[in-house]
Amino acid sequence: MNEKLATLIELQNIDIKKDEIINKISNIHNETKLFEESMKKKQEEIENAKSEISKDSVFKKDKDFEIASVEEKIRKHNMELNGVKTNDAYRALLNEIENGKQIKLRIEDELLIVMEKDEKLLKSIKDLQNQYIEIEKEFANKKNVFEIELKKHEEDIAKLEEERKLKIDVLPKNISEKYENVRNNKHGIAVVPIDNNTCGGCHRNLPIHVIDEVQKGKELVICNNCLRILYKKL
Ligand SMILES: [Zn+2]
Repeated sequence: MNEKLATLIELQNIDIKKDEIINKISNIHNETKLFEESMKKKQEEIENAKSEISKDSVFKKDKDFEIASVEEKIRKHNMELNGVKTNDAYRALLNEIENGKQIKLRIEDELLIVMEKDEKLLKSIKDLQNQYIEIEKEFANKKNVFEIELKKHEEDIAKLEEERKLKIDVLPKNISEKYENVRNNKHGIAVVPIDNNTCGGCHRNLPIHVIDEVQKGKELVICNNCLRILYKKL
């Protein structure tokens, strides 16, 4: 096989390995991001529940104040009952008292609903906090693994970079540039085998003379359709 072609195939194998590692690195970053996002989301849910409870506590204070003022009126009317002179006035006061009692009951019902709601919120805060701790724990464990993996990946990439440089250095500049260009445009695959008289990249049929050229191995031959560099499988 053409020596340059052999070097290009080796270069491409190095680049494929490098891409795989880069992919693994990006997966680690994505996983890290997912952990951070889900922790942030739990934190936001906790904050929302807390702010709901604090809003309710203002509401409850207002309602307590209303109850106190209704009770005060009832007490006053009860005292007034002793001093009234007419039946009508007496009945009117009794009405007022009854009315006050109804209002108080209604407010107490409202309070009960809010208190039940807050109880649920408190429980959900506890659940969310536990979930947060679980995620945090899992993330802490994973972080160690991630760090070890990242370090290994970076070392591997550095090694591959060195190997890559050795290959690039022995290739004529126009060929290495051609390789890089095709690689960038063709999703990382620039050198492809001839597969059953078709291009291993775009799968179009190759003219006989092209296959012959590759067979001879004197020059680098490219597929006229996808511009990838062709080689013959051994
Ligand atoms: Zn092709």
